[in-house]
This record gives sequence, structure tokens and C-alpha cells, in this order.
Amino acid sequence: MTTAESTAEPESESAVETARRQLERAAAHLKVDEGVVERLRHPTSVYRVSIPLERDDGTTEMFTGYRAHHDSVRGPYKGGLRYHPGVSEDECVGLSMWMTWKCAVMDLPFGGAKGGVVVNPKELSNDEKERLTRRFAEELRPVIGPMKDIPAPDMGTDPQTMAWFMDSYSMQAGETTPGVVTGKPPVIGGSKGREKAPGRSVGIVTREAIDYYDWELEETTVAVQGFGSVGANAARYLDERGATIVAVSDVDGAIYDPDGFDTNDVEDHDEAPGMVSTYDAPETLSNAELLELDVDVLIPAAVGNVLTVENARNVQAEMIVEGANGPTTSAADQVFEDQGVHVIPDILANAGGVTVSYFEWLQDINRRAWSLERVHKELESEMLQAWNAVREEYDARDVTWRDATYLVALSRIADAHDARGLWP
Ligand code: GLU
Repeated sequence: MTTAESTAEPESESAVETARRQLERAAAHLKVDEGVVERLRHPTSVYRVSIPLERDDGTTEMFTGYRAHHDSVRGPYKGGLRYHPGVSEDECVGLSMWMTWKCAVMDLPFGGAKGGVVVNPKELSNDEKERLTRRFAEELRPVIGPMKDIPAPDMGTDPQTMAWFMDSYSMQAGETTPGVVTGKPPVIGGSKGREKAPGRSVGIVTREAIDYYDWELEETTVAVQGFGSVGANAARYLDERGATIVAVSDVDGAIYDPDGFDTNDVEDHDEAPGMVSTYDAPETLSNAELLELDVDVLIPAAVGNVLTVENARNVQAEMIVEGANGPTTSAADQVFEDQGVHVIPDILANAGGVTVSYFEWLQDINRRAWSLERVHKELESEMLQAWNAVREEYDARDVTWRDATYLVALSRIADAHDARGLWP
């Protein structure tokens, strides 16, 4: 059925609904205590703060910020902060659940959190962004800290945002506290390789998945939606290893070359925002058309909920590697399962970001920086360990890649809850 023939209402599913469905599916495969699953359906706490901002013209505007703490059985809460007009409490809760699973799949000693501000950062000046960030950090100060909850960049935030955040926290704490956030500039305790890590891990996992199916990277065609830090770095990683990147896009549209692009020639969103669709390519496409291209691997690396029941049947890729968080709705996932499309989930594929965040946190605590070579080597080794754990579940049971990944995460979390027990 094509989109035009579809009579279904456009699908809308909040991140928390998707996250809860995925949890229930995984729990059905495992002998997990029902009480633990019930606890994991809910966040521990959600903080909602009002942030007054003095605009450059002297007026005061109020913004709403959130921080959701999902679960901390394995360690301090960990997860990004996004600045986006679509931020909501439900979205933060859903994304915080994914962070819990992501950290558990990677076997990192962290739980899951997520937060953000309902704002379009493109409509703020640099000074306004700084004032907003500093006040947001101050409002969250009671609930964050290097051993409590460690924020990081996400959509609409970057190393500079983390630098302001760390500085605001440190000034109030009376001591420089680099471990309170990750994704900082290296000059103040950020890790080398952190910015490129989510894209790099998407590349590593795609490489392993291609190998699992005995495909050749040199014969693999790839389309990447979103050419920001995740998409561009994944595309370049795979391009450098011989894959053919036939399409990439930004928010304004996609470019297509059946012979493949030199991905270093196309400027990414961080280098030149909004320039992908102006690149001199043989063909231009819409973002919707990119998702339906006849390629081997599709990497959605932009926003959530782009693969829905509306377009899932038109997807021709044999493998989808999720670079974005939550790009596939539950209904689309079912279509892919029925059609035998392999979906390698976000919580494994883009987990390189939080993994190098963990390396950064260790470096901050130890006050000792790692070389880029060491970051790359340890990231490769962590990704392979996680991939192998997931592959073993996948081979042992008749489940999807997403289910196998959830099984690894959930069994680790459930065992930790079982060992610690419920207090009081
Ligand atoms: N925002 C990133 C994610 O969704 C990274 C979180 C972190 O490093 O804490 O995985």
C-alpha cells in the first residue's frame, strides 16, 4: 500500500509510548519479576523548571525546562539535554528510558536521564543561549552532580552549551567540577573523539552487521537521513571503508548520486548548516523519498518518528541502522519484522556517544586526558563487546535485533534490581 492509498490516520506515538511498548515486548521474552518491569515503566522523578530569560532587547521571556530521571540502579543518571520546540515531559521520559537501556547494553555504570528546554535555539542569539543555559543549570543544580546525574549534548546543544553549564555549576559549587557534564570542549576536560563518537559507533555497528550477513562493505549502498554529527560521521566512517554513500540529506532535502558521494566533499551541518541540499549533485530528492530509496542500508540519523506505518511498506532497504533516537514507531517496527528488514536499534547503534561520555567522566575524575588513539581503541572494544552480547541473544532466540538488544539491557537491569531489592 502506498502512502496515497493509505486510509490510516497519520501515526502519532509519543517517545514514552514507544519506549513502554518496547519494554513490554522484551519483558515478555524474559523471566523478569513483574514488579521490576512495573518500576521500569515509570521514571523515578521528573523535574519541571521555569527559566526566565532576559532577551537582548531587555524584555523577559519564560521558558520551560525538564529533566527526567528514569532509573539509577546501575549508577548515576546519564543523558543529554536538548533545545528544541518539540521538547515535552513525555518525550524526556521516553528518551530517559532509552538512556537506561543504552547504558546497560554498553555495560556502563550509569542509569538513564534526559532533559531539555522548549525553545528553538535558532531564534536565540549566542548571548541569549548562554543566559538560558546558565539559568537552566542553576535550576537543575539540586538534582545534578558528577555522582548524581551527568547531562550531555543532544539536539540543539553542543560543547559550548556544556561549557556554560559546567562553569555555572562550578561557580556555585566553589570548585571546578568538570565531571558534572560530558561533551565539553577538550580544553576544559572534554574527551577527544566525543563529538564524532555517536556517528563512529553507527559506522562500527553497521560494519559488523554487514559482516554478519556476509555482505561486502565495498558492494553496499547506503542512504543517510541527516548530515549532522551522527549522520555525517557515520557516512564518512563507512565511506572510508569502501561503502557507497548514495544519498544524504539535511532538513531542507536530500542529494542523490547512484555512483556515490565523496562524503568529505559534502559539508556537514556543523561545518555549514543547511548547505547539504545546495551541493551540486546529479539529483535532489525530498527527505521522504530518501527513506524509500532502493539501497542496502538506510541510516535515519535526524529526528524521531520518521519511519511510521505510513511509509514503512515503501522502505526498500534490507537493513536499517538507527542513528537518531527513536526514528521507528512501534507499528513501523512490526511492518519491518513482517517483511524481514533487519533493524539495528538506536540504543546499540548510536551508543558510542554515551560510551565516550563515560570515558570523559573517567578522565575528569582522574584528571588525566586520554589520546584520541586510546579513545578509538576503547570505543571499538566496547562496541564489539556490546555487539557480540546482542548477537548471541539474536542467534539463540527467534527475535528481532531490537528485542535481542533489549534482552541484554533488561536482564542486566533486572539482575541489579534483584540484587539491590526494593527499599524500604
Ligand atoms: N545525547 C546522547 C544520546 O542520546 C548522549 C548522552 C550522553 O552522552 O550522556 O545518547
